[in-house]
Amino acid sequence: MQWGEPMTTPLKTVLVVGGAGYIGSHMVWLLGQKGVDVVTLDNLSSGHRDAVLHGKFVHGDIADRLVLDKVFSEHKFDAVMHFASFIQVGESVQDPAKYYQNNFTNTLNLLNAMRTHNVGRFIFSSTAAIFGEPEYSSIDEAHPKRPINPYGWSKLMVEQALADYDRAYGLKSVCLRYFNAAGAHPDSLLGERHDPETHLIPLILQAASGHRQNITVFGRDYKTPDGTCIRDYIHILDLAEAHWLALQYLQADGQTTAFNLGNGNGYSVESVIQAARRVTGKAIPVLEGQRREGDPAQLVANADEIKLRLGWQPAYADLDTIVAHAWQWECSRKAS
Ligand code: UDP
Repeated sequence: MQWGEPMTTPLKTVLVVGGAGYIGSHMVWLLGQKGVDVVTLDNLSSGHRDAVLHGKFVHGDIADRLVLDKVFSEHKFDAVMHFASFIQVGESVQDPAKYYQNNFTNTLNLLNAMRTHNVGRFIFSSTAAIFGEPEYSSIDEAHPKRPINPYGWSKLMVEQALADYDRAYGLKSVCLRYFNAAGAHPDSLLGERHDPETHLIPLILQAASGHRQNITVFGRDYKTPDGTCIRDYIHILDLAEAHWLALQYLQADGQTTAFNLGNGNGYSVESVIQAARRVTGKAIPVLEGQRREGDPAQLVANADEIKLRLGWQPAYADLDTIVAHAWQWECSRKAS
């Protein structure tokens, strides 16, 4: 099959790179529910082998062209989904080489293996960090793209490469720009397991469970109603469902595009702590901290475009539900 040629057969096999991580593992599970064969390729640098609940697992790195060649030779993929990247903004400022190498250069390896093996459909995990300091809220696709850290740049550079790969080689892609992925599988099959954990909701819930002593609020002097930062928390299964719709869009011959992906609702750090107190019934001790470098006051998505064009609708938009699922996951981990 040539790139760009209409896909007449149903979606059968998908390569999920980074399928052992937080978002990737939920995606692999969802693809299993949809009856799609999956091969997960993951170097387990931050993912977990036991989080891959469906399909075949290959332990390997996209930096390694021989591994890529082997995986692509052994399977015929209809599409590739790429979740494997480093995600810590602060670390990207300290060590940009790590971020450009893995998030950009290694992604080119993956795209070039797709070229070699004539796989023409790609879903990419992008980020709200490509927009930099918000110039208005909520942030739509037309918002200026001026990243303020190497993490954001590494993702925007891939977006640019994808536009060029379509023009030159016909590779079709969808970039999904996540705002704040949160929550867990409603039956606690999967959840967030970063080490070290830096994300707000799991940290608050660790403080609720006694796993850590408290949660530090990074600044109360922002220009927001309660002074704490506002973010757009999107449930992990709503995120996975958006990827499924994007896959189907490409399968139906959709053109290369990008969507902002969030709930469209902003919640302050303070309101997330209050939600966690409501959901858990625990006191949750709070410390007051300094602002964290590079944190904009408010990051909220305008997700109208993906709703309109792909028919995406969040099923778990309510913050208490997101926190409740994350809490069930935290409790199940403690019990196991
Ligand atoms: N945050 C906080 N204390 C923490 C971790 C995060 O106050 O221990 C705040 C952070 O400043 C931001 C929000 O919570 O405003 C969400 O941060 P997170 O790291 O979860 O996601 P990000 O928005 O950086 O992608």
